[in-house]
This record gives sequence, structure tokens and C-alpha cells, in this order.
Amino acid sequence: MTTSPDTDLPDVPALPVPTCDACPHPLEDHDPIGLRFCAITTSRGMNRGCVCVST
Ligand SMILES: [Zn+2]
Ligand SMILES: [Zn+2]
Repeated sequence: MTTSPDTDLPDVPALPVPTCDACPHPLEDHDPIGLRFCAITTSRGMNRGCVCVST
């Protein structure tokens, strides 16, 4: 039996970055205004995009 401790598992994300429910951006990219904006968008089921600052 041979075991490979360094086997890559493609279905395991390396960095579990929490993403927003209202937009495809990671929560880290949200400023306080963006977080509130997206929270309201999610709670009201709206589809109005987001106010994230994309560089
Ligand atoms: Zn968002
Ligand atoms: Zn966004």
C-alpha cells in the first residue's frame, strides 16, 4: 500500500473565502456601505447589483 500525503484534491477549495449572497464578490471586498447594501438586497430579494469598488 502506498499513501500519497501530498495528493491534490481538486474539489477541496484552498481558501474558503466567504462570498456575498447578493453579489459574486468576496465579503472582504465590501466596505461597510457595501455590506449594508448587499444585506438589504439579500433580505428583500432584490436584483440591483452591488456597490462594491472594483479596481
Ligand atoms: Zn455583496
Ligand atoms: Zn459586489
